[in-house]
Amino acid sequence: MSLTLTPAHLESIRRHGAADYPSECCGILLGQAQGDAKRVTEVVPLRNLRHDPARAQELLPLADPGRETEKNRFLIDPLDQLRVEKGARQRGLDVLGYYHSHPDHPARPSIYDRDHAWPWYSYVIIAVERGTPNEVTSWVLAEDRSAFRTETMAMGD
Ligand SMILES: [Zn+2]
Repeated sequence: MSLTLTPAHLESIRRHGAADYPSECCGILLGQAQGDAKRVTEVVPLRNLRHDPARAQELLPLADPGRETEKNRFLIDPLDQLRVEKGARQRGLDVLGYYHSHPDHPARPSIYDRDHAWPWYSYVIIAVERGTPNEVTSWVLAEDRSAFRTETMAMGD
């Protein structure tokens, strides 16, 4: 699998990560897929619903809401997801994956990330260290859900 995006897409993910620090940011990647090659055409920044703990907890309960907050968890509002998917379909685009930030943590998926991922989709993670965007990586869950594999990121134009 490979994920191609432009420097402008990457910059918009980096900016979002920095803007929402020390909380996790999140968003959806739209574009076109041909076989194993995904090409991003739009980066859609969304609100991390964990900022609304009562509603988020209702939708997808956390085991330890005292320690799990918007600073180390993200949740996309299902209404946002539906709206973005619908708009994408109308323009002949697909949801290729998702991005989120890891404030003061490496750009590697957590166990929580793995447990809440689906195969095929790209999961882009941006590490943000003390407010400064750092490494960006992309991951794809194995079909049997056993592990995340790094996905090649390519720069397009
Ligand atoms: Zn994560």
